[in-house]
Amino acid sequence: MSSLEMQLSAFKVIIQKSTIRVVCPQCLQGFPRANVLYRHFKTEKDNIHMGLSMRKVDFEKFLDCYQEALGASIPAEKLHYGFDCFEVKFVVEHYANDAEKVQMNTSSQSLKVYKTHLPFEA
Ligand SMILES: [Zn+2]
Repeated sequence: MSSLEMQLSAFKVIIQKSTIRVVCPQCLQGFPRANVLYRHFKTEKDNIHMGLSMRKVDFEKFLDCYQEALGASIPAEKLHYGFDCFEVKFVVEHYANDAEKVQMNTSSQSLKVYKTHLPFEA
């Protein structure tokens, strides 16, 4: 095991023993409970955080913001159940999953940038 791997596994234990259970995919701030995380989404007020709070109201908007925040194309069916998608383990495992693909294909990156600057569709 490399020292980096050992440092990572130490991090995992620290998180497991902490009170952090859920994490904001946009700013990676950790919270003990989902209701505190939801309060955070509402106080931040930017488009991504607002979208993250809309899972039950507007799932498509939520999905868009979730994928944008995480930098990963998570299939919608993985995000339908409770707060699984905000759990520390889930967020860390999927974080920036698209980064490698983007490096190989710069046109998809510019498309992504273009997409984020589209005005909010009501
Ligand atoms: Zn946040």
